[in-house]
Amino acid sequence: MYDYLLSEENRKFREEVREFVKNAVPPSLLKKLDKDEIQYPTEYLKALAKQNLIGVRFPKEYGGRGLNWESEVIALEEIGELGSSLACLFSLPSICGEALNKFGTEDQKRKYLKPMCEGKKCTAEALTEPRGGSDFFGATCTAEKKGDNYILNGEKRFVVGAEGADFLLVYAKTILNPDIDPRNSLSLFIVDRNEDIKVEYLFGLLGTRGGGAGRIRFKDVEVPQENILLKEGAGGQIFYQMMVPERLTTASGFIGLARACLRIATKYSTKRKAFGQTIKNFQGVSFKISDSITLLDAVRAMVYNTAKSIDAEAPASLQRRLVSESKKFSTKACWKVINNAMQIMGGIGYTTVYPIERLLRDARLGEIWTGTTEIMNLIIQHEYYKEILSDKWLGRDVEQDALDSDAEEEKHFG
Ligand SMILES: Cc1cc2nc3c(=O)[nH]c(=O)nc-3n(C[C@H](O)[C@H](O)[C@H](O)COP(=O)(O)OP(=O)(O)OC[C@H]3O[C@@H](n4cnc5c(N)ncnc54)[C@H](O)[C@@H]3O)c2cc1C
Repeated sequence: MYDYLLSEENRKFREEVREFVKNAVPPSLLKKLDKDEIQYPTEYLKALAKQNLIGVRFPKEYGGRGLNWESEVIALEEIGELGSSLACLFSLPSICGEALNKFGTEDQKRKYLKPMCEGKKCTAEALTEPRGGSDFFGATCTAEKKGDNYILNGEKRFVVGAEGADFLLVYAKTILNPDIDPRNSLSLFIVDRNEDIKVEYLFGLLGTRGGGAGRIRFKDVEVPQENILLKEGAGGQIFYQMMVPERLTTASGFIGLARACLRIATKYSTKRKAFGQTIKNFQGVSFKISDSITLLDAVRAMVYNTAKSIDAEAPASLQRRLVSESKKFSTKACWKVINNAMQIMGGIGYTTVYPIERLLRDARLGEIWTGTTEIMNLIIQHEYYKEILSDKWLGRDVEQDALDSDAEEEKHFG
C-alpha cells in the first residue's frame, strides 16, 4: 500500500534493506538462534554495521545516516521477517541511541553513540527488574554518589543484548529518600561492561531466542559521574523519550513477522487441496486472508502515520499516545494475522517444517515487552484525557443535537 507514498530515497532504502534481509542472514543463523545454540549473534551485528544499518536515524557525524523515522520503520518492516530477536538487536541502537543523541554530551556521543553506530560497541537497555517492569518508578537499583563516582547496586532482568553489550544504559535510583517524588529520583547511567557486572543467560524463552536476553547483577560497580545522562533525577524525562523508539520499533518490526507468515499461508492455500479443490476456494480460508491483509494495512497506516507525525515534530504527549497506540494495535493485529496463517496451514503449520510456529512464539512477546498492552492503555487514556480536558473545543457542540438537550435537570453527575 505504501509503495506509492514512499519517496524515491526511501524506496531505494527499502530495497537495500530487503536485499540485506535476503542475502546477509543465512537460514542457519536463525535455526541456531532458535535452538539456543547461539546466545548473541555477533556476526549479524557485524553484517549490519558493514551495511551501515546501525542507528540509521542518527546524524552522519556520529556514524548514522541522518535518516528519519519513516525510513527506520521501513527498514524494520523488512528486518522483522527475521524474527523478533534480530529485529530487537537492530532496534536497540535506536532505543539507546535516542537517549545518547537527545540528551548526551558531546563527549558521550563521541565515546558511545559513534562507536555504537559504527558497530564497534554493542549496547543494551537495562530497565526491568525482578520486582517488576511496569512500575518503572518503583525501581530498586541504586546509584550512590561517592566522590567522583556513583556506586551501582541491584539487579535487572530480561535485558535483550545483555550477553554481548559493551555498555549498558541502566536506570537507578539516585535519591533514596522516600519523601521525594519517585518521578524525580531516577537517573540514567551509561555503564561500561566490566568484571563487577555479572550477566547470566538463564531463562528458557518461548521465542525470541538467541538475542542475549540476560539477567544482570551490579555489585558495587563504580560508574564515573560523567556517565550520567543529562543530570541526576532526569531518568523519568529520558524514559518518556525512550518510549518512542521502544514502542515504535516493536510496532514496525512485528509487521514483518506477520507479513512473512501471511505470505507463506496465502501461497500454501493455492496449492493445498481438500474435498477435491484448493483450499483457497473455501471462503473460510480466503476470508481469513482478507481479514489478515486488511489488518496489516491498517497497522501500516497507523505505524507509518505515527512515524510521519514524529518526523513532523508532533508534541511529545501526542507522540507518546501515538507510539503506544501503534504498539498495542500492531502487536495485537500481528498476533491475529500469524494465528490466521497457522490455521490456514492446518497441522503442518504447527510443526517446524514451516517457520510460522517460530514466528508465532516470537509474536507472543509483542504484548509483553517494551511495556505491556495494559501499560499502553494506561498511557493512551491518560494522554487523551489530558488532551480533551485541556482543549477548548471550537467545533460544533453536538450535545445540543439531542432531542431533549435542554433537559438540564436530567444531567446528573453523581
Ligand atoms: C524476552 C524478553 C525481552 C525483554 N527485553 C527487555 C529489555 O531489553 N530491557 C528491559 O529493561 N526489559 C526487557 N524486558 C522486560 C519487559 O519489558 C517486561 O517483562 C514488561 O515490561 C513487563 O514487566 P514484568 O514482566 O515485570 O511484569 P509486571 O510489571 O509484573 O506486570 C505483570 C502484569 O500486571 C499488569 N500490570 C502491571 N501494572 C499494571 C497497571 N497499572 N494496570 C494494569 N495492569 C498492570 C501487566 O500488564 C502484566 O500483565 C523483556 C522481557 C522479555 C520476556
